[in-house]
Amino acid sequence: MPDAKTAKVTKSDSEWRKDLTPMQYAVLREKATEQPFSGEYEHERREGTYVCAGCGQTLFESETKFDSGCGWPSFTAPTAESHVDEQRDTSHGMIRTEVLCSRCSGHLGHVFNDGPAPSGQRYCINSAALKLEPK
Ligand code: FE
Repeated sequence: MPDAKTAKVTKSDSEWRKDLTPMQYAVLREKATEQPFSGEYEHERREGTYVCAGCGQTLFESETKFDSGCGWPSFTAPTAESHVDEQRDTSHGMIRTEVLCSRCSGHLGHVFNDGPAPSGQRYCINSAALKLEPK
């Protein structure tokens, strides 16, 4: 029996267009990157949980958010490894690791190896892919 909490979310393109804002659609479904220093959560300091703007899956906790200065919300680790998928991305002449929501396959951003200890990871995530649920 499918588990409602972990079941994959699949929608048609027209359903996604209807359910998301144009910016959310561009990022999550078309892998766009919002302009640096433009997103609503870059300087967000409230405590809470960041969930996927596409499907509501828990993605990052405010405790892992840090100021990387890169222009996008940055986190040292996802809430759970199983909540994100990572895959090699060779677009735009770079070799990067893309981060996707494991539930709706929405594009979130990229992860880099230049984050703070101990994880050493910097999850560089578009604000438009996230929704903060404050504590
Ligand atoms: Fe999602």
